[in-house]
Amino acid sequence: MDFNTIIYKELVNEGIAEIIMNRPKKRNAINKEMIVEMSAAFKRAEESEDIKVIIFSGAGPCFSAGHDLSPNEEYPDTCDERIAFERKYYFDESMYIRNIRKPIISKVHSHCIAAALALASVTDIVIASEDAIFSEPVVRMGANSQELMFLPWLIGEKKTKELLFTGDAIKADEAVQLGLVNKVVPVEQLDDAVMEMASKIAQMPPLAISLVKESVNNTMDIMGYTNSMKMHFASHLLSHTTNEIAEGMGKSKRGNLKEFFDRRDQKFV
Ligand code: ZN
Repeated sequence: MDFNTIIYKELVNEGIAEIIMNRPKKRNAINKEMIVEMSAAFKRAEESEDIKVIIFSGAGPCFSAGHDLSPNEEYPDTCDERIAFERKYYFDESMYIRNIRKPIISKVHSHCIAAALALASVTDIVIASEDAIFSEPVVRMGANSQELMFLPWLIGEKKTKELLFTGDAIKADEAVQLGLVNKVVPVEQLDDAVMEMASKIAQMPPLAISLVKESVNNTMDIMGYTNSMKMHFASHLLSHTTNEIAEGMGKSKRGNLKEFFDRRDQKFV
């Protein structure tokens, strides 16, 4: 499979693959094509015997602005189609990435919004540069924000509620204090910091690492992680059917998206 929306690189000698979201002019907005390509790339890295660690990153000005909401992107109109679409492309693909049997490190710079935050959060380790900004503002459009309810698991109840009630963004220094990211480094050191971590893990016995990952994920699952994701995902889908979201998302489909976001966020800044 050739890729249009991502770049797939293998550093065979180091045992590292990198999957790079590559729609820089669109702020790496995630459309269906990108999800399909990312999934294929993760599968390729997972199946390659040369690869021990996967790096996940974004090319251009930011990590990613989240799902591509621009009017030329086709999304299902009916509830039935929407459920099938989001189940397959949002929920199943995210959980597939979470459970890949190789460690994944997200390399985050600048904006990491909504679906992009969800994707980074299902990876195993997140390293961010000092300019990184994390946000989940979808509630402002009327949705029960995320496809995945990962925040309570990472940063606890109170802060989750604050961020999801307000849609406010947090900067890298706060994100590291909260446990949303592992490490924050100066912008110019981000590539090296990620490579250093990836190389260190790539030298470990790979089967042992996969067992450690599975044990940690299983521990989270015994505490209810995946079931809570499923419960939340049903509520997220339900929130696609409300009048509030019809108003919020409907406006995004009419005309200029930047104007829509400016108008939407104006009262919160
Ligand atoms: Zn949705």
